[in-house]
Amino acid sequence: MAKGGYSRNIAGASGTLALAAGKLALVLVPLTLMCTVLQGSSLRAEAADTLPVASSARLEQGADQATLTFELSGPVQATAFVLGDPDRVIVDLPQTNFALDPEIGKPENLEPRKNGLVASFRYGQLEPGRSRIVIDLAASAKVLRAGCENGGDGKTRLVVELSRTDKASFRTAVQAARARLAELAQPKKPIEREPASALPVIVLDPGHGGIDRGARARGVVEKEVVLEFAKVLAAKLEATGHFKIVLTREDDRFLSLSERVRIGRERNAALFISIHADTLSRVAKVSGATIYTLSDRASDREAARVAAKENQSDIVAGLDPSEDNDDVAGILFDLTRRETRAYSHMFAHTLVNYWRVAERLNKNPRRSAGFLVLKAPDVPSVLLELGYLSNGADSLALNSPDWRDQASGQVAQAIGAFFASRERNRPMTTADPDLAPAGKIPSSKP
Ligand code: ZN
Repeated sequence: MAKGGYSRNIAGASGTLALAAGKLALVLVPLTLMCTVLQGSSLRAEAADTLPVASSARLEQGADQATLTFELSGPVQATAFVLGDPDRVIVDLPQTNFALDPEIGKPENLEPRKNGLVASFRYGQLEPGRSRIVIDLAASAKVLRAGCENGGDGKTRLVVELSRTDKASFRTAVQAARARLAELAQPKKPIEREPASALPVIVLDPGHGGIDRGARARGVVEKEVVLEFAKVLAAKLEATGHFKIVLTREDDRFLSLSERVRIGRERNAALFISIHADTLSRVAKVSGATIYTLSDRASDREAARVAAKENQSDIVAGLDPSEDNDDVAGILFDLTRRETRAYSHMFAHTLVNYWRVAERLNKNPRRSAGFLVLKAPDVPSVLLELGYLSNGADSLALNSPDWRDQASGQVAQAIGAFFASRERNRPMTTADPDLAPAGKIPSSKP
């Protein structure tokens, strides 16, 4: 398991991003806007053509200093701070159109350096109205300046200048940033459930989005293919007239993991399906879909790897993991949680059997691990890894509208079968006969 304690962080799992957004926006916006931001209204996204455009980025670094420069179409207000675990510099901006190759800040695309300050950087939209640059540090650094200057050639440059500092000073700066964030924090809202709907609510959760692109390989980007898949599946389910469908995101925006969980709970979801695609850099032959459920201990090392990777999403977007620290006594939840897990296993089992009729499955298609996005105690939740972008056949499939149509059809059928049998077969136990040892494929058919 990648991260301990998720099972205790239950009811208070509030929208971390919304919270962080509110807090950070306070730093950025004039006082008169504060009330609006505190009430949770998101800053309206400006029309794309009026947004500042970043047209190039350049990193220069020596052993003790680094300068990251973006060329912009006009000045923006930047707010920078440092976060630890892992050590990062965060630069918040109003929504900016990054007309740049999203890969340029990846370690393999930076000039190799033994003792640089910056390991990698990325940028993108955090939510409508807000963009962010996240700089992963290779050594403790402080922000000397983060702001715009006129380049003299009529162009504006956003310059982020860092210099090496010692570990103790860095820690002090992290504590100061956290204290300021905490001071500005809104109290976490309790879960506000919608009135029950006449139809079962299915929440589809396309993973990643915005600044968090997820896995990438062979020119395919996870956040894009999973959104496409979710939309096709949503249309199929809606067409049955049997379900109410909610998508956690319908466009390219970032949502924190706890915000996704919260949507499932607030919408009274009868089923939550998080949709992802995996990649393995060194084993291109591994292929097929895998269906994960939540467990305290990972079913195997591969499941632990996948959960650790998917749980990184908040870190990738520059959120502070210490924000999500609610601790709710678990005992009242235990019975609910047991039933929830049993339903999750039941659906995962059904999905495996429907999927295998038409699509490729991983050789061990049912696994479990500590996925943060599956932690709702009262919403049956599974995570579907559609396949491996690192595998040629999977990558082609995931990018193909025909495959998407066919595979989402299998998922829609599995959902139909699950709800049809759910009332007949109320689960009595959390035991999951499906979690077979590696390599053994469950033999039962729907
Ligand atoms: Zn993912």
